[in-house]
Amino acid sequence: MPNEKIIDGRAIAKKIEEEVRSGTEEFTIQTGITPGLATVLVGDDEASRMYIRLKHKACDRAGIHAEDHSLPFDSTQDELTTLINTLNDKDDIHSILVQLPLPPHLNEQAAMETIAPNKDADGFHPVNMGRLLIGKEELVPCTPKGIIRAMEEYDVEIEGKNAVIIGHSNVVGKPLAAMLLNRNATVSVCHIFTDDLKRYTTQADILISATGVAHLIKADMIKEGAVIFDVGISKIDGKVVGDVDFEAVLPKVSLITPVPGGVGPMTISILLQHTLESARRINK
Ligand code: NAD
Repeated sequence: MPNEKIIDGRAIAKKIEEEVRSGTEEFTIQTGITPGLATVLVGDDEASRMYIRLKHKACDRAGIHAEDHSLPFDSTQDELTTLINTLNDKDDIHSILVQLPLPPHLNEQAAMETIAPNKDADGFHPVNMGRLLIGKEELVPCTPKGIIRAMEEYDVEIEGKNAVIIGHSNVVGKPLAAMLLNRNATVSVCHIFTDDLKRYTTQADILISATGVAHLIKADMIKEGAVIFDVGISKIDGKVVGDVDFEAVLPKVSLITPVPGGVGPMTISILLQHTLESARRINK
């Protein structure tokens, strides 16, 4: 029997994907337009290739047109800018994703800022980040958006709750802090320089960990009945694990995401949602 405390990220992802599939079908019937996602990969990092493949497969399932644009590892910033600008101008592309990390000689922030804000699949453009900060959530980073959706699916109360985020990256921690503030949680953001992490985590009604440090969060660091989202991905003895010592904390939590099968699958389905939303907005 499935454990009712374990958040089924794959099931939520499937539900979102189905919503996008039927939304896409309806949109295409009404407009004659197929929503289109362009992915950009620079170099041939194996993990990045795998993520691109997963994203394209998900697009196929949802009826979204997906095209891959690969550039060699030694491409210049100008070559990347030119490609992104070409995609910005393409009528059949409504969403653009530049797979990170880029090779070290390229400027990721400059690449993000080249993507047209209304085609910003990952929601990393400063215009979209700024909108998020003032409470206008349109194209927002996919991982935090997936986490919020999971909270909605599992009726997690946010307003007035203590939410503690560990990790202050632009990809997860900072945008998630804004999204939780927009929903009236009391938010603490911890990171590598936080003195006495446990002092914060034991106060958390909702704890989100996004560090990539395997089993950083132990049972004595969490509050009884807490809701836990484990974003981290790392390996112990070849096995994929999260930031949270899952087996040890399970008896204490009211809800928790597993790794794998928790936050990860939802991230990709939100990308599909963004592509459909952008296609709708661009063709309004
Ligand atoms: P990052 O790697 O840019 O930053 C890590 C963050 O963790 C920083 O804020 C750092 O200060 C903090 N940190 C590191 N060690 C710490 C410690 N010992 N105590 C407290 N804080 C500590 O972060 P990121 O890009 O947000 O990625 C974090 C993790 O989440 C990685 O494992 C990544 O693979 C994973 N991730 C998963 C998904 C998904 O969809 N499942 C999406 C994005 C990131």
